[in-house]
This record gives sequence, structure tokens and C-alpha cells, in this order.
Amino acid sequence: MDTPYLEIDLAKLFSNTQELVKMFGARNIDITGITKVALGEPRVANCLVSAGLTSLGDSRIANIKRMRQAGVKATFVLIRTPSMTEVNDVVKYADVSFNTEVSIISELSKAAIKQNKVHDIVLMVELGDLREGILQKNLDATIDQIVKLKGVNLKGLGANLACFSGVKPSKKNMDQLSLLAETYEKKYQIKFDIISGGNSANFDWFFANEDLGRINDVRLGESIFIGRETLTREHIEGLHLDAITLVAEVIESKTKPSFPEGEVGQDAFGNTTIFVDKGDMLRTILSVGKQDVHVPGLTPFIDVDIIGSSSDHLILDATRSPLQVGDDVRFSLDYAALLSCMTSPFVAKSYVENGIT
Ligand SMILES: *Cc1c(COP(=O)(O)O)cnc(C)c1O
Repeated sequence: MDTPYLEIDLAKLFSNTQELVKMFGARNIDITGITKVALGEPRVANCLVSAGLTSLGDSRIANIKRMRQAGVKATFVLIRTPSMTEVNDVVKYADVSFNTEVSIISELSKAAIKQNKVHDIVLMVELGDLREGILQKNLDATIDQIVKLKGVNLKGLGANLACFSGVKPSKKNMDQLSLLAETYEKKYQIKFDIISGGNSANFDWFFANEDLGRINDVRLGESIFIGRETLTREHIEGLHLDAITLVAEVIESKTKPSFPEGEVGQDAFGNTTIFVDKGDMLRTILSVGKQDVHVPGLTPFIDVDIIGSSSDHLILDATRSPLQVGDDVRFSLDYAALLSCMTSPFVAKSYVENGIT
């Protein structure tokens, strides 16, 4: 296997998904599995479906198209509000899309009529995190316009917290979402099928609250792939933290000083580093760098320190765990590191099923 590579353990992903389906199922909450971090890779998507998910969401229509064309059997949800230029593909490949703009929904309506389809819409409501969402005071006017459009069906409401500003899901903002659902169902004589409460950051809220109101769906990415909730990055008991790991290879390993020689200016990325003289150390270089991975998100499996990185090199202090040229070093990844590796053309992807590559 060429290095660096991501090792994607489908048995562990299956187990994480199944555990979450059990936990949320006990609270009558459906999970929409969010595949964006896996670029809609069909093997990953099929793994989530075989573990019990019936709904898959992705932020990119290209990923949804990839899964659909590969024959993945699920309801596909576009979780990023569509752009004007992709409405035809959205209607063609996605069953549901999250929306906040009447002008876009009106184009979706036209595209759906042309394609002889009815496209489902979930309206995203702004609950304070200030990424996507319709202001609550404008929701009534928005619904009023949408219910008049043909080709689109208002399937539900959703909200997204903790993604941009880090605003936490709370009893107050979640109750507010339920209240909005009930208010407008009554006013417009409609029934919302989906009230999508949030993402992996809602984990604690779902299990700490008795009454979940009208919330019946959660969109999970990080907890499936990384095994953590996302408010404090706490490990979710029973889930694997190492379903996906990065393997990189040693290309140099030498005992060298810890303190640079000569006058120090800015490095290749415009940073000025303060060095501490710790005497000699075993400095080991791996053939992976900032072009491949968000380095702060890496945690080595062995007892070494990451000293730093440049575009193509990762430098370790391997004094406590000596490494030789050609050795592999394995890392666990946070979400940012996983996203960067997945999107790097230089990082190969290796799938492990039942322990066999
Ligand atoms: C990425 C994303 C999610 C999934 O978030 P996780 O923290 O990975 O669970 C859910 N909803 C929306 C709108 C997203 O963009």
C-alpha cells in the first residue's frame, strides 16, 4: 500500500452506526447519516445503510449523485442550501433539500415541474448559531409563499447549531423549534414529517431531556465516523474512536539538535516559532504534510511528539519510541484532519472489512 493512506474500517463504522441507531431508536429519533466527510464514498454509504440507516445527507450534490449512481438505496437529503445553478441536479438526484431562500425554492419548483416530480423541502430555521436559517419572525411569510408553489412539498423544519458560532442546543432553542412546528402546522393545516433537531452536538440534549417535543430526526456525521459528540468532544461510550486512521511512512530518522542553528526568521508559512533547547533528540520525518492533513487534528498511536510540519513533511520527536526509515506510524484523526485527508488526492484510501484489506 502506498503511503500515506487512510485506513477505513467498515466493520467499526458499521458497529458505530448500529450503536447510534439503537441509542437514538430508544428515544424514537431517526438518524440521517451525514456522508460529506467521506465524499459520498459508496462503500461507506452502503455500510451505514446496512447498519440500519434509511436516510443519508450530504452537503454536496456531487456526492449525492455519486451515491445514487452507485445504486446506494437510501433517501438522499441535500443538507446545504442549494445554489441557483444546481437546482436541476438537486431535483434529479436528491429526494429532499434543506432550504432558506424563497427564490431558490421557486427555481426548485420549476425544475420539479419540468422533471415531473415533487421535491421535498425542509426549511432551516435560525436558532442563534447564525449560519444558515430563516429568521423566526420571517418563517410565516416564507411558508405562506411555499405552500402555494407546485412541484415542492414542505416536509418539515430543521435547525443547525454549534457549527459556526458554537451555540449549544438547549431546552429553550429546541422547544422553540417544536413550538414553531406546531404553530405553522395549525395555521396552514399541514403536517410536518421531519423536525430535524441538529447534529452530533445535540447528543447530550437528546439523552438529558425527557421530553424531546416534536424533534424526530438528528443528522450525525462526526459521531458515526469519529465516535465523539461535538460540544466537548467527549467519547460516546460503546463507539470506536479509531474507525478511520491515517498511516504515514518514515523517510528520515536521525539524532539531531532540538535547537536550530543560525538566525531565525519566518518559516515557509509566515510563522515565527520559539524553539526550546532540549539537547539532542531523534528527529523522524514522515512523508505527509499540510497538503495532506490538518496536522493539529492528528494523534499518534505511539509515544512520540509532533514537533511541526511543512507542506510535505511531518516532523516527530521519536526519542521515546525510536523509528527507522520505512516504518509506518499510525494516527487517529479529528473531524478536520479526516476531512483534509479525504479530500487530498495524495492520501490513498484503504478499506478494511472484517479485518481483511
Ligand atoms: C455537517 C452537518 C451535519 C453533521 O454534523 P456532525 O457534527 O458531523 O454530526 C449536520 N447538519 C448540517 C446542516 C451539516 O452541515
